[in-house]
Amino acid sequence: MSDIAAYVDGLGLVDHHCHGVVSADLDLAGFEGLATESSWPSPFGGSNFDTPFGVAVRALCAPLLDLPKHSSGAAYVARRSELGPEEVNRRLLGATGIDTYIIETGVGGSELLGAAEIGAATGAAHREVHRLEVIAERLLEQVGGGDEFVTRLTDRLDESAAVAVGFKSVVAYRHGLDFDPARPGLADVRRAADAVVARRTDGARVRLTDETIIRHLLWEAVDRRRPLQFHVGYGDSDIDLYRCDPSRMTEFIRRTVGTGTAITLLHCYPFQREAAFLAQVYPHVYLDTGAAVNYTGFGSAQVVRESLELAPFNKVLFSTDAYGLPELYLCGSLLWRRAVTRIFSAWVDADEMGAGDAVRYLDLIASGNAQNVYADV
Ligand SMILES: [Zn+2]
Repeated sequence: MSDIAAYVDGLGLVDHHCHGVVSADLDLAGFEGLATESSWPSPFGGSNFDTPFGVAVRALCAPLLDLPKHSSGAAYVARRSELGPEEVNRRLLGATGIDTYIIETGVGGSELLGAAEIGAATGAAHREVHRLEVIAERLLEQVGGGDEFVTRLTDRLDESAAVAVGFKSVVAYRHGLDFDPARPGLADVRRAADAVVARRTDGARVRLTDETIIRHLLWEAVDRRRPLQFHVGYGDSDIDLYRCDPSRMTEFIRRTVGTGTAITLLHCYPFQREAAFLAQVYPHVYLDTGAAVNYTGFGSAQVVRESLELAPFNKVLFSTDAYGLPELYLCGSLLWRRAVTRIFSAWVDADEMGAGDAVRYLDLIASGNAQNVYADV
């Protein structure tokens, strides 16, 4: 146990899917609002510090802010304010052991520290992933019609591919993973974009839900051979969970074998077994359990274990999916380290796996697989 534990403690991580952290001070309500995927506080009371994630914050983060383990939520937030957001970010991000942040920039605005600022605060390397639907939405707010949309989208995606190491899709949110796997014809895409342009109101943000346009985005991204991240499973109140099972996109996965584009299935809870199946069978599919690890707290070892039941060890990635709170980065990495320490130690102690193999697989999951999938990481 101790050898593997020490090795895992020292592992440098590539966080292949995460977001910015808030730069402002947070009060209790502000903190609790970011500590859940729910959009509402309970009308019947209760605190998000009394959740699996809240318990993990009070156990793992409190000591880094000089508080006793298991301090109350109120004491934790008060101490946070006393130290100030810059110091809190420095302490918590500095203790994650994340060497490289691959930040998805498609959600949140100037209230979040972006890739470069997190890099500056931590000394870690940073890369960007661009969200396809956001690229299309900004364009749909500007263009005169479908013709112009299709033409300018090509340039916009080329520009993105030049600076981002990958693309991300939230088709799970906007339609469901049971989308039509076929590449749409350009005439259909133009028509669909014409309809969005006709419906939009001046100055209002476009929210893309048109399945034809989203499929066009997916196939255009596949053409550019950048890893394509898909939101899978667990998320906020915008999703219908049953339509976020990755086996619903099996035909799309089948049709993209041999394109040279990797598909990475993000979060996956509670479909980590379905995702692991896809990662085993299809050569270009990868999975992680980010977000799930944070929100299942100390129960997360079971989720990580299930993701490792079937998937080859060269197909599993590490991520935190942290958004807003540096606590999500810290808990995401420490909970993951606890989980893989338990899992791999048990295999090695039972002599079911050689210690050398365990170290090799841990290196792959922590960073090696991400470095293989993403260019320049
Ligand atoms: Zn995310």
